[in-house]
Amino acid sequence: MRQGIPFIVSGPSGGGKTTLAKGVLDKLDNLRFSVSCTTRKPRDGEVDGQDYIFISEADFGKMVSQGRFIEHALVHGNYYGTPMDEFENARVSGVDLLLDIDVQGASQIRKNYPEAVFCFVLPPDLKVLEQRLIERNSDRDIDIGKRLIRAKEETKPSILEEYDYIIINDELDEALESLFSIIVSTRCESKRMLEKVKSNF
Ligand code: 5GP
Repeated sequence: MRQGIPFIVSGPSGGGKTTLAKGVLDKLDNLRFSVSCTTRKPRDGEVDGQDYIFISEADFGKMVSQGRFIEHALVHGNYYGTPMDEFENARVSGVDLLLDIDVQGASQIRKNYPEAVFCFVLPPDLKVLEQRLIERNSDRDIDIGKRLIRAKEETKPSILEEYDYIIINDELDEALESLFSIIVSTRCESKRMLEKVKSNF
């Protein structure tokens, strides 16, 4: 059986990663969302264990020292990490995983998992990003400012060129189609199909 493929999706908060992730998860079989641990407080409507596993800083620190994250990072003053268990289970059982993680986490995964596929999702420009963050209205103004500064830093060519794909999320349907196509065509790459073909022919 082929190993599960990790699909990494990074990009500024407010760029539409969550909506895109939900869209492809609804459309594709054998694709699971990697639920991260975070020390951030839940936003309205977020479900523990589904959107994130919300934990204390002390518990996060314990998990780090036990080596239970495949990557972790400090983002906007909160800690985030991808639990090792779920990631490895998916890999060995051939389930593809969708990870919504920041550029620091993506760079850690790039070093250890060369088979992963890296996508960067962007709004058309900074003005649209600001507008989307204001409409989302779940962050205080000060956070919006911080997020815009960070978005500028994260979209430097030196960071973007590390990604296999860049998706501009202007029209949601088109962006969804792009992410969908990336996943479907990656699954068909001959190097990922050889095992299956060998066992059937
Ligand atoms: P938010 O708090 O808005 O849900 O997410 C803030 C940022 O943290 C986003 O850029 C998101 O991609 C990133 N993030 C979420 N989970 C993880 C994770 O497990 N690891 C890393 N490195 N970043 C994460």
